Amino acid sequence: MSELVDHVSSILMDLIRVKTVTPPGENYLDLVTYLDGLLTNYGVNTKIIEVPKSIVKEHYPEYADHPRYILLAELCNTRDKRIHFNAHYDVVSGGGGWLVTEPFKPVIINGRVYGRGASDDKGGVTALVLLAKQLSELRDFRGCVEFSFTPDEEIGGLTGVGYLINQIRKPDYAIVTEPTGLNTIWIGSMGILQLDIVVRGLPSHASQPWYGINAFEDGITMAYSLITRLKPRIEDRQFMNESASVVLGGLVRGGDARNIVPSYFQFSIDRRILPNEDIDQAFNEIVSLINMFHSYVKSTIDVYVINKIEPAINNNSLLLTGLINAISETLKVNPQIKISRVPVDTRYFQKGGIDALTYGPGDIAAAHGPDEYIQINDIMESVKVYLKLIRRIYSNNI
Ligand SMILES: [Zn+2]
Repeated sequence: MSELVDHVSSILMDLIRVKTVTPPGENYLDLVTYLDGLLTNYGVNTKIIEVPKSIVKEHYPEYADHPRYILLAELCNTRDKRIHFNAHYDVVSGGGGWLVTEPFKPVIINGRVYGRGASDDKGGVTALVLLAKQLSELRDFRGCVEFSFTPDEEIGGLTGVGYLINQIRKPDYAIVTEPTGLNTIWIGSMGILQLDIVVRGLPSHASQPWYGINAFEDGITMAYSLITRLKPRIEDRQFMNESASVVLGGLVRGGDARNIVPSYFQFSIDRRILPNEDIDQAFNEIVSLINMFHSYVKSTIDVYVINKIEPAINNNSLLLTGLINAISETLKVNPQIKISRVPVDTRYFQKGGIDALTYGPGDIAAAHGPDEYIQINDIMESVKVYLKLIRRIYSNNI
């Protein structure tokens, strides 16, 4: 292994050892302090921002006792365009089923680093650290490149990029590193609408059911009509080779005893929204079917919005042209242009009117599962692409 590859691998393994699991959001300061030390050593200007507790409390009250930090870094010697690179350093819990190693005890095998977060997204963090190092070593560097390392992407990003976006000068371009793989660019992401449907009837003894109103029977009849009438229509919708989807009953509650007419029944709906759909229309579509059904049953039905994340898309992206060119010149491949089926922090930049894309090393299929890994070589290659992109931007040759 070359010295640089060695250095990069050891940074990634150090990052994996810091167990930044969210929820609740642990060891964030340790990780940010470590990154700050590295970047300062390379001569990069840095700043640690603590997310105000009031903001954490507002969005995630149950985790408000765990402080949130963002590391900002900058290499800027021109008033020219500003490009922002972001990676998130929080990870999902270790989970079970690991065979190669334990989630927070990274190992290297055949050029791959294994450990929780290797692909999502500490490989991305490592790539940006390497990018900052290499830019700082360039004698002829001219540009304005900003980096952010943010928490809480895995729980929605409101206390990470969602907060940061209003604290910084608006960049012209943004690249968010997620494990898209080197041959794929995500130009958008699907949204999420999660609902709880609560059906309330009236209890009575099962020996005299006519005194009761059966919330379960009303609820499943309604669920059945959603499955037969709405689901096929939703699943038919397509955008960039992805289809919309809906899952009923991920969470179901109700019933107290076998001999009682159930007076309460609740089921969830998880609806994934395409960038060419409107999230409010998606909501109304469900509610209007429920309302229609409502007049046929005696139970009362309430719909609660549990989670709502809008889809996002970057149309007419100049950055996309630059990134495609940088990838094809560096890696000799034509990248695939896709949307992500899960929300990514890129959407905060895109909603803010910034020309932003998601592109980074790693394998999305390896993320969140056991034996998560990344090819170290992918990190090295991604940095070459980023450098090429930066060169193109500052030579006005995007
Ligand atoms: Zn991620």
